[in-house]
Amino acid sequence: MTEDANPVTRKIIHVDMDAFYASVEQRDDPTLRGKPLAVGGSAKRGVVAAASYEARKFGVKSAMPGVTARRRCPSLLFVKPRFEVYRAVSQELHGIFARYTDLIEPLSLDEAYLDVTDDIAGVGSATAIAQAIRHDIRTELRLTASAGVSYNKFIAKVASDQNKPDGVYVVRPGEGADFVAGLPARRFYGVGPKTAERMSALGIETGADIRDQSLMFLEQHFGKSAQYLYRASRGEDYRSVRSDRARKSIGGERTYADDLIEDGDLREALEHIIEIVWERIDRNSARGRTVTLKVKYADFQQITRARSVSPAIATRDSFERLSRDLLEALLPVAKGVRLLGLTLSSLESAKNSNDEQTSGVAEVNPVQESLAF
Ligand SMILES: [Mg+2]
Repeated sequence: MTEDANPVTRKIIHVDMDAFYASVEQRDDPTLRGKPLAVGGSAKRGVVAAASYEARKFGVKSAMPGVTARRRCPSLLFVKPRFEVYRAVSQELHGIFARYTDLIEPLSLDEAYLDVTDDIAGVGSATAIAQAIRHDIRTELRLTASAGVSYNKFIAKVASDQNKPDGVYVVRPGEGADFVAGLPARRFYGVGPKTAERMSALGIETGADIRDQSLMFLEQHFGKSAQYLYRASRGEDYRSVRSDRARKSIGGERTYADDLIEDGDLREALEHIIEIVWERIDRNSARGRTVTLKVKYADFQQITRARSVSPAIATRDSFERLSRDLLEALLPVAKGVRLLGLTLSSLESAKNSNDEQTSGVAEVNPVQESLAF
């Protein structure tokens, strides 16, 4: 994880669309509104890509096998994903973000961190910016989004979940430590079910429990994550918002609720990742020469396979072809796959680094005094 040595007090918004794919489908087809809906998952071994809130009431979740989803909710409607539509909506969404800041770090098609420390639109406060963005999304895209507003990424992200759907939650500087103390440990970045279980065995259930541990204890039990956990449990997170422009690579990955083993399932899963990653490449007009496929097996063995081409990849076709070739070379797999990821690197348009803004900055940004939360 990258972080900056010199944190200034930032104002960060995490925006997360509510049940994005499902909401787009309900927006575009009125007969789907108010009904339990799953996007994807209808294929024999398909996986639900998104579930409407009506479906979530039955326990239907994304990444769940379609069969399980149908069992939980017999009246569940399945629709095929329309990624080209989601990508187009995502671009409109980014157009809205760009009215308020240049510092946008997308996490997926429907989720992004925005650094609004500089109030370029003159809205007046970070909270007001979050409300303005939600208003624009509602009126222009006819969709809802939730937002978390805080002074760092970790808290902003957790906060956006707090009043979901269609809500906003603000954690001001000075409130972060208390907010974090009450969180379940599994809501900390990087704490998956396995780590949460190990924590529980050590009597660590909440943020407050993490904070009660020494750094040495955390290092002993959680290795590389220790430093992050130590700080995060005190409400600190110094990572800056990084726009794709400033990155050395652009990628995406997915973890599957059920391990994938059949060729067809793996191919289908790869197509989804191609969609996600290409959208980000395209939005940033990035040109890269290396495509890397990451595969994590059920036993957590992880491998990567990469191919470089010259000149740089300029079309979706060539990105697809390289990605598929990398996967085909691994098929059939001898053991289940729990994660697939794709990355484009050796970027040629990696200019305009955000790092310049934060490296070696010792003074406190004067804007923070004037722009309220
Ligand atoms: Mg979302």
